[in-house]
Amino acid sequence: MSVDTVSRIVIVGASLGGASAAVALRAQGYSDEIVLIGAEQHLPYERPPLSKAVLLGNADEPDWVAASDYYADAGIAMLAGTTATKIRRGDQVVEAGGSDIRYDRLLLATGGRPRQLRVPGAGLDDVFTLRTLDDSMALRSRLISGANVVVVGAGWIGCEVGAAASQHGSSVTMVEPATQPLVRVVGQQVGAAFASLHRSNGVDLRLGTGVVGFSGDDRVQAVVLSSAEVIPADTVVVGVGIQTNIALAEECGLDLADGGVAVDASLCTSDPHIFAVGDIAAHDHPHYPGRVRVEHWANAKDQGSHVAQNLLGAATPFESRPFFFSDQYDLGCEYRGLADPEQDELVVRGDLHSLEFTAFWLRDSTVMAAMNVNQWDDGDALQELVDTRRPVSPDDLRASHF
Ligand SMILES: Cc1cc2nc3c(=O)[nH]c(=O)nc-3n(C[C@H](O)[C@H](O)[C@H](O)COP(=O)(O)OP(=O)(O)OC[C@H]3O[C@@H](n4cnc5c(N)ncnc54)[C@H](O)[C@@H]3O)c2cc1C
Repeated sequence: MSVDTVSRIVIVGASLGGASAAVALRAQGYSDEIVLIGAEQHLPYERPPLSKAVLLGNADEPDWVAASDYYADAGIAMLAGTTATKIRRGDQVVEAGGSDIRYDRLLLATGGRPRQLRVPGAGLDDVFTLRTLDDSMALRSRLISGANVVVVGAGWIGCEVGAAASQHGSSVTMVEPATQPLVRVVGQQVGAAFASLHRSNGVDLRLGTGVVGFSGDDRVQAVVLSSAEVIPADTVVVGVGIQTNIALAEECGLDLADGGVAVDASLCTSDPHIFAVGDIAAHDHPHYPGRVRVEHWANAKDQGSHVAQNLLGAATPFESRPFFFSDQYDLGCEYRGLADPEQDELVVRGDLHSLEFTAFWLRDSTVMAAMNVNQWDDGDALQELVDTRRPVSPDDLRASHF
């Protein structure tokens, strides 16, 4: 396939993954048509600040993927506020905003939307979820001193929202059915360190209990727990994960996997004209068995940049290992790799309780994942350990000879 045959690339999803691809295409010298279709009214932006600086009131804007005049200057047709409703693969057409938009290559970067709780009262006013800039601004106005805020779910979004609410002086209850916050990613011991962090910042953390309903007339007034306890609430934030936006892919018959769109190592779907990146990409990763689908900022950004060359005819595998970060109160952390905390051996260098440590997850003497918490000197060394998977011993890791 030569560059000449690709005269129009259509991208559905104008957020980090999709816009990074558009920027990379232009950076690589592609000068034909790029159409970027996005359901949101805003220009493409990055979501991490929505649960951090924006929610804390330290910023009124997220980080933009590119400057506002970039798209027009770069000749990218930016269709904001436009939803793609159908893909007709036989015609190589996307239906969007009442038009048929022909493509030579199509990139799907449709991400996810918050999963809703299916319990009585879930539709009451002041029950929030957090995915968009508008969500963040609306929620921020509710996080005030003295407010009763209940956060449902102690995953990354729940923990960051709980931290922001607590820092605003709200009275925060966080409810999580699992035994510790973040337990599925970091396991019991590291999860317990995060539990201490939240409790020491005044959060009333309820573990091992679920939410069975919300009560109130029009507005939420209380959260009912599976323990039958009733927690007063004037604001509720439900942070129980996302549902991927894969209906377009499913309806046009693309292969699906792991809750996303199946892509090969080069991010190509089961249709050679269609690629997928970001939260929806269930990737046949060269370095892991099975598929890898992660919901991380770095993955969307890097896959978006990487896929540009493949849209133009290369078939270069995407090889980066997962990476994500989080900020809560004065804690910052970075996680590299992909571990199974139930199966892998945890080795900790430093002190879990002082919240200055590096956690390693070891399998067969290799580091599957490493997480540095409030430690910033070893990022490159940790990346090298995770990338090379060279043999190391727990003692070496504890003594920092790595
Ligand atoms: C509040 C928040 C904080 C986060 N913090 C971190 C963090 O600290 N660290 C980290 O690693 N990750 C973080 N993430 C995750 C990270 O932001 C996501 O992994 C990333 O945004 C995924 O990018 P994406 O382009 O795949 O999808 P998305 O960002 O979900 O974008 C998809 C876009 O496609 C649009 N769309 C969907 N369907 C259609 C359609 N049919 N037609 C047109 N447009 C459509 C959507 O409206 C949306 O704008 C955070 C996420 C959130 C919500």
